[in-house]
Amino acid sequence: MQHNEFDFDFFVIGAGSGGVRAARTAAGLGARTAIAEQRFFGGTCVNVGCIPKKLYTYAAQFAHHWRDAVSYGWQTGDLPAFDWQRLKDNKDKEINRLNGIYRNILGTAGVQIIEGRAILEDVHRVRIGDQVFTAQHILIATGGHSKMPEIPGIELAIDSDGFFELTKQPKRVLVVGGGYIATELAGVFAGLGSTVHLVHRGNVLLGDFDAEIASFVTEAIASYTDLNLRSQVSRIEKHIKNNESGHELLVTLDNGRQITVDTVLFATGRKPSTAGLGLEKIGVQLDDGGGVHVNEFYESSVPGIYAVGDVINRVTLTPVALAEGQMLARRLFRQPDVASAPVMSYELIASAVFSDPQLATVGLTEAQARQQFSAVKVFKSRFRPLKHTMTGAAEFTLMKMLVDPATDRVLGVHMAGADAAEIIQGMAVALQAGATKADFDNTLGIHPTAAEEFVTMRTPVSGS
Ligand code: NDP
Repeated sequence: MQHNEFDFDFFVIGAGSGGVRAARTAAGLGARTAIAEQRFFGGTCVNVGCIPKKLYTYAAQFAHHWRDAVSYGWQTGDLPAFDWQRLKDNKDKEINRLNGIYRNILGTAGVQIIEGRAILEDVHRVRIGDQVFTAQHILIATGGHSKMPEIPGIELAIDSDGFFELTKQPKRVLVVGGGYIATELAGVFAGLGSTVHLVHRGNVLLGDFDAEIASFVTEAIASYTDLNLRSQVSRIEKHIKNNESGHELLVTLDNGRQITVDTVLFATGRKPSTAGLGLEKIGVQLDDGGGVHVNEFYESSVPGIYAVGDVINRVTLTPVALAEGQMLARRLFRQPDVASAPVMSYELIASAVFSDPQLATVGLTEAQARQQFSAVKVFKSRFRPLKHTMTGAAEFTLMKMLVDPATDRVLGVHMAGADAAEIIQGMAVALQAGATKADFDNTLGIHPTAAEEFVTMRTPVSGS
């Protein structure tokens, strides 16, 4: 490619999922690329998000396995002691290793790494400390951070970043929120043996998902937490513990209920990290949620400045940021036919909540399908997984499929239960390929599995 008078063709601010993917792709296409990072390589997902969270969910599952093992003939005795500090140390070691891998990947791809906080001086100039770099194209990929309501005592609470820093397991914890993070971390705490109070202002947890699936998961979570729906935290106060060193937190809810815990964790959403980057100074427009406003090509209101990932506040999921970063870099640096690069489709984004039980989904919810189609066939299966026919545990799985009767096309597939995320990933391929219900019916199952239910659902519970 032809180079210009700038230090770099492409300067990426933020080495999270979107930024790293964009930088690697650009460098691979011959662009002289730099990436600036002020904190840790790999961003939220690798350091304080998806990866360490998944490791903690594995840890939390062992208590279930231990309990179930008895029915399979194991002499298990008492539940062995759990060592929170060891889990954290091992998690930290693994995350450090991944940080190193991210750095190496960038270095190997030929991306120049610059550590420090980047601030835009103008459309082509980025300052980091006392150095200024020039670039033809600049990408904002600074991600997001948690937002917490302004209530008295909020400074006593932690967010999900704070969760990963906890060096001691709180015996009693109060989690606020009803979305991804609140349900996932409530499941982790409970699995590891903490008493969990969950406080959510809505009628149901995970209310953005299919209503029936959300209710099913809410009911399951209510069986192992003290679930307070339609409730909010009014204030948090610090108290010295009776007869013990240390302190505890007294949480008052808006209905007057008071709950004493060791830790309060707020998981009440996230917002784009746009402050202090110099965006306003150069005229980059933000949307109502504070995200960088971009068009379908990730171009901001200022030519030459782009944004992808959580900072655009569109779909805040790692695979989406990766796809956006790659799409942008290909569009900018694939020569010569730049204009023909495709735009990203935001339809059929599969996602999973690693709550207990897991929830996973792709396509339309029943409510969305009924809004868009004159009739919808609903297929459902609720069953106790084979494993629990022996353990007797009250663990069930719910699967749901929505079909357009006019075309037979599958519109949405939803599942709550063990391995939901692993199963739905395959379903996402089928939906992406435009699978019809007949395609599912013509597919042989793998027996005995839970997933085979998706190819053996024959009778709709609702056909209109
Ligand atoms: P979510 O948007 O999923 O959930 C936020 C929750 O907080 C909602 O239940 C919301 O209630 C509630 N809430 C918001 N404001 C307040 C308030 N002022 N007082 C009380 N409750 C409030 O955000 P999370 O923080 O859980 O996660 C952030 C994002 O991170 C997710 O949206 C997701 O994109 C990503 N993520 C993805 C994961 C995955 O893929 N498995 C895992 C973790 C995070 P209401 O519904 O009433 O607005």
